[in-house]
Amino acid sequence: MWWRVCAGNSGSTVEYVVAVGANLGNAAQVVNEALANVAEKLDGSLVGRSSLFRTAPVGGPDQPDFVNAVAIVNSELEPRNVLTRLQAMENDAGRIRDVRWGPRTLDLDVIVAGQVVSDDPVLTIPHPRAHERAFVLVPWLEIDPSAQIPGVGSVRDLVDAGFDQQDITLVES
Ligand code: ATP
Ligand code: CA
Ligand code: CA
Repeated sequence: MWWRVCAGNSGSTVEYVVAVGANLGNAAQVVNEALANVAEKLDGSLVGRSSLFRTAPVGGPDQPDFVNAVAIVNSELEPRNVLTRLQAMENDAGRIRDVRWGPRTLDLDVIVAGQVVSDDPVLTIPHPRAHERAFVLVPWLEIDPSAQIPGVGSVRDLVDAGFDQQDITLVES
């Protein structure tokens, strides 16, 4: 019930920002499929989906570049339920969980859930590292120029402040 208090009235729609990433197999295809399916998987509606971006890995072992994108989905599901559905999509894409920040066929992170703020380690919202990641903020800003991270500030300001050594390039469609 805690979620409902924070998210608004019971049954209200929450705007979820979901970060999509992949760096194994045909990563661009995997990301495009996730973007095409995520709204339906969350029993919601797609508000927007970004272009694909190619990004150098941040942290973790030596590994291929990532393809990243962001989707915005309106859904009435509660955040923990959204995480479960996203993890099912990761599993369906053949994700194996071994090395932290290692290569993966598909990674789906909840970046924000409306105005919800939670430090629950199972689902921390806003995502605790989103504000420092070009591969999240640049695609998000593309589809929502007025994006805000609750408790942090405007995505435009974060992007304008720049990123240390984080290569990100638009994938031509
Ligand atoms: P990072 O969180 O730094 O992007 P990661 O995506 O590689 O790293 P995972 O191995 O995919 O990390 O997830 C580890 C755990 O993080 C998950 O089991 C999940 O319970 C938890 N988690 C906490 N907050 C979130 C969130 N906002 N979105 C997705 N997973 C989260
Ligand atoms: Ca991640
Ligand atoms: Ca993740």
